[in-house]
Amino acid sequence: MKKQYDIIVVGAGPAGSMAARYAAEKGVSVLMLEKDRDVGYPVRCGEAISKAGVEEFIPIDEKWIAATISRFGFVAPNGNEVFINFGDAGFVLERRLFDYALAQSAAEAGVEILTRAYVYGLIIEDDIVKGVKYEYRGEQHEVYAKVVIAADGVESRVGRWAGLKTHIDFRDMEAAVQVTAANIPIDQNTLYFYFGKDVAPNGYFWVFPKGNNKANIGLGVSGITGKKRSALSYLNDFMEKHYPNAPILTSIAGGVPCSITLDKISAPGIMLVGDAARQVNPLSGGGIASGMIGGSIAGTIAGDAIKNNNLTHILTYDKAWGDRLGKRHEIFNRIKNGIYNFSDEKFNLIAQSFLKVPEEKRGLGNLFVTALMNQPSLLVDVAKVFLVK
Ligand SMILES: Cc1cc2nc3c(=O)[nH]c(=O)nc-3n(C[C@H](O)[C@H](O)[C@H](O)COP(=O)(O)OP(=O)(O)OC[C@H]3O[C@@H](n4cnc5c(N)ncnc54)[C@H](O)[C@@H]3O)c2cc1C
Repeated sequence: MKKQYDIIVVGAGPAGSMAARYAAEKGVSVLMLEKDRDVGYPVRCGEAISKAGVEEFIPIDEKWIAATISRFGFVAPNGNEVFINFGDAGFVLERRLFDYALAQSAAEAGVEILTRAYVYGLIIEDDIVKGVKYEYRGEQHEVYAKVVIAADGVESRVGRWAGLKTHIDFRDMEAAVQVTAANIPIDQNTLYFYFGKDVAPNGYFWVFPKGNNKANIGLGVSGITGKKRSALSYLNDFMEKHYPNAPILTSIAGGVPCSITLDKISAPGIMLVGDAARQVNPLSGGGIASGMIGGSIAGTIAGDAIKNNNLTHILTYDKAWGDRLGKRHEIFNRIKNGIYNFSDEKFNLIAQSFLKVPEEKRGLGNLFVTALMNQPSLLVDVAKVFLVK
């Protein structure tokens, strides 16, 4: 292990591995430190991702695909189901293997990886981040870098240590719980989304197929809802009602930052990527693909900055992220705030409108338009979604 690298990445999730890989591909030296024993484990994720989200970064490999998704199912509060066919929409992953494959691709690009390496502090000199302090096998070490990339997930502390404002409103921090259960008799190519105040107030409940009749079943509730009733009690009720005898293979809980990106995600010597930067899609709660995108942009910019001996170049990362996804997330966030406040009656009406369209003609675009035509009062809500700042 060297004492100095061009770039150090903290955390080997999807965002960290992509940041490390894209930087290393520029020919600079990169060290990625991961606190857990294994890259990719433990998994805290519903594991759904679009096909495009994967293909941008890694060739599809059956090894880490648990289910192939071609259909979405929306279940209204009154139980009406609307299905939309999408063709090749996406996947439910085996993230344990997927994250591992991403880290391997980083290693192939020349990244050094150290697991069981817990980063507990930063080296800061003259207000510039110059490296990290980490503990490995009971011993403390210091290692210097020209750029540190914080990819340390939703509970990130690295950004805060660097003086960046990483706090988000507690209303936007969703408390999510999920079980992976066996003997779930659902279509293994459909992602199911349930809406309504009894299943997932201000959000949605998911049942995602995991292959061989297994499924990831869970929900996230906002900080406000969680104060009144826990996400776990909604999950227990759902399981009791729908799958009372299903064997539970794993149970997980975690936070999902469903907000817009932090105001500032770079500063001298430091860049933030993935959940640490709050790059999750605030409408869907999906953060795998957007984290990889954030990581790839940060890694590319950091690599260029070092190659060209112009470290201030890393400060262009905020704008580059904003142009690629950050600004879109601001719109999604407004839509989220509108949709998640819909009443159960409104969700039922939308489903009713959708059901009038023949299944072969259904697509998200035309169903949206049909819903508006059948329910003109929705226009007001949609207008609010786009206009309310
Ligand atoms: C219940 C649940 C369901 C979800 N479902 C989906 C879904 O279906 N689809 C989707 O796209 N997204 C989903 N998400 C969100 C998704 O899991 C995250 O957005 C994604 O994992 C973010 O990737 P990341 O690389 O930023 O962080 P992470 O994957 O969290 O990786 C961060 C890494 O940093 C390491 N680390 C942290 N601190 C340190 C430290 N001090 N030193 C060294 N290493 C450290 C961690 O061990 C970890 O390996 C879900 C989240 C939850 C909680």
